[in-house]
Amino acid sequence: MFSENLNIVKKNISDALNQTGKSINDIKLVAVSKTKPVEIILEAYNLGLRDFGENKAKELKAKSAELPKDIHWHFIGHLQRNKVKEVIPVAELIHSVDSIKIAGEINKRANAIGKVQKILIEVNTSEEETKFGLSTVEQVNEVAHFCNEASNLNLCGLMTMAPFTGNEKILRNCFIKLREMKENLNSNGFNLKELSMGMTNDYEIAIEEGATIVRIGTALFGKRNY
Ligand SMILES: *Cc1c(COP(=O)(O)O)cnc(C)c1O
Repeated sequence: MFSENLNIVKKNISDALNQTGKSINDIKLVAVSKTKPVEIILEAYNLGLRDFGENKAKELKAKSAELPKDIHWHFIGHLQRNKVKEVIPVAELIHSVDSIKIAGEINKRANAIGKVQKILIEVNTSEEETKFGLSTVEQVNEVAHFCNEASNLNLCGLMTMAPFTGNEKILRNCFIKLREMKENLNSNGFNLKELSMGMTNDYEIAIEEGATIVRIGTALFGKRNY
């Protein structure tokens, strides 16, 4: 069943890429495995997937200890300061940096273990109060400058979560906003490559608007039981 889902997702990614001139190798598929058991992750691993996304520090730590070491773990959840220490040793990329405080803590903890941590800044592009992430260009600029100066941070790009809606215009606007923020930073001396945007509900649109990383859970693994 998983392999069928994977084929469908890959086909949809290819179709969405059709209009962009990019190839499937330009897109990183992060399989969001939160709440799913290690057996299912292993099944996905055996079909060739190497990038998995988790949103809880404890769950990430437990699963990464049991699973093959060549998995790239993506931390996609809201990060609390006291959890940073657990996440750093295993995370390939942290998608959810949303304050100088958290960036500073990541820098400190990465420095302590001799690692340069790859990170993304999370932007709230939907103006929904329930979402995490920075809302204004000024805030994003401020955190981006801080990250660029920090010795043990490698700021790779931006991440956003669009609202859960079927309204294509609203979704597209969120992704355009994120892309424009990246372009704006890059014209001011940054060299950001990654746009982490697109989930089960909206990844095709995100890809059309320039996503380089999509984070897909439900379409691959089915509904989650919390
Ligand atoms: C859960 C989650 C996803 C995946 O959501 P699906 O709708 O199941 O694809 C992607 N990104 C973040 C930040 C998440 O928390």
